[in-house]
Amino acid sequence: MHLLHLRGMAINITFHGAAGMVTGSKHLLEIPDKNGKIMRLLLDCGMFQGEGPQSDEKNRRFGFDPKSIDALVLSHAHIDHSGLIPRLVREGFSGPIYATPATRDLCTIMLEDSARIQESDFEGDLRRAKKQGRAPKEVEPLYAVGDVAPALGLIQGVDYNEPFEVLPGVKLTFTDAGHILGSACVHLVIETAEGTRHITFSGDVGRYVDRLLPDPASFPQADVIICESTYGDRDHPPVEIARDELLEHVRRICVGRKGKLLIPAFSIGKTQELLHQLNQLYNEGRLPRVPVFVDSPLSINATGIYRQYSNLLQDDIRKELAADPDLFGFRGVEFVREAARSKQLNERQEPCIVIAASGMMEAGRIRHHLKHGLPNANNAVLIVGFSAPGTLGAELMERPDHVQIFGDRVTVRAEILRMESYSAHADRSELLRWMSCQDPSKVQRTFLVHGIQQSLTALRDLYASKGFSNIAIPRQGERFEL
Ligand SMILES: [Zn+2]
Repeated sequence: MHLLHLRGMAINITFHGAAGMVTGSKHLLEIPDKNGKIMRLLLDCGMFQGEGPQSDEKNRRFGFDPKSIDALVLSHAHIDHSGLIPRLVREGFSGPIYATPATRDLCTIMLEDSARIQESDFEGDLRRAKKQGRAPKEVEPLYAVGDVAPALGLIQGVDYNEPFEVLPGVKLTFTDAGHILGSACVHLVIETAEGTRHITFSGDVGRYVDRLLPDPASFPQADVIICESTYGDRDHPPVEIARDELLEHVRRICVGRKGKLLIPAFSIGKTQELLHQLNQLYNEGRLPRVPVFVDSPLSINATGIYRQYSNLLQDDIRKELAADPDLFGFRGVEFVREAARSKQLNERQEPCIVIAASGMMEAGRIRHHLKHGLPNANNAVLIVGFSAPGTLGAELMERPDHVQIFGDRVTVRAEILRMESYSAHADRSELLRWMSCQDPSKVQRTFLVHGIQQSLTALRDLYASKGFSNIAIPRQGERFEL
């Protein structure tokens, strides 16, 4: 009777984030061990972003007990995948966190930066509450700088393609996702009383293009696949013309109009891709003499980590390194650490290129640059990445007459430009290519996450047309037996 009961116990998965939306990636696997005890393995612990107070509320409640989690596997360092790790640890999680060594190093700078943002958001609300004579919204920040070191202390580096036992009977293998430095697709081989299960989690899938990182790697046959869907409904423009298009924008805005070209960019990934392309233009003698400011201490530190892990870059890039030891720096680039210098740039009227975080324009120095730069019709904002609905980035893409920044109404006269070819996310055809190493008849279940509704349904229809069956689009908090 007891044995029969054990045999009936299945693996379960609950989607606690990036379900029907892009941010907050967090998927909980419940796995019965040989004795029938449930082991809990969390995939990613990302922050919800872009919904204002609603995001903050969701970030404060996990939907599970952090103390009950046995281990965490982290796909990559982006905040919508890693940003709640300090909160998880603050709430009692003390198990191991598995990530690639590059992801671990990127987390050291990302999470501390995130903690500072949490502290300053909290203090800002305290000040406003006092002024307005109301109670503060929260009694403490989501987490603080002091919570970061204990969280980092739990991270263990696991290299690509090296199987590693993360829990009894649960083997993890990372493959290169090609999305940002250190990014991984997660493959679990789980031994249960009912047999062996192969579960794959895509994390964020990168591009099959000639840029800094290698193509996403193919992976062994899986029974269950959890796949991101960010661009499930469309293809990106060709990447070959991106560099010329970027150059054209620089010429037209900075040389022709004597304006500023403001480029909001993720500190990790996008900033390095842009610097590398500008560096190539510089080496070819095509880049006009326009000062380039990288106004983000986080980007500077992240660029250092890209340099340190140059062995993870594409073969061609490593050849390029032999000829030019600094792929991200050239004459005319200034890396700005000091806040005082950043403020000077806000006031600056001369033409220049400013690359600053955050990519979705929800935080960071880019908001100051936008506040000062948007009212001037000579300037332009070049949007090169994905912005989740509700973020300032998504708002600006609609080319509004005005936006609110730091509580002020800011008129938008600057030109709003978009380039999707710099995306770090696989497009529709590339997501299909990522899945093409699989025999659809052997994949028993596919879950689509990390996308807005129209991308999720479009990708579901595409995969179904290629023979994948049993494709689900989970809702927030929905639980499935595997
Ligand atoms: Zn990502």
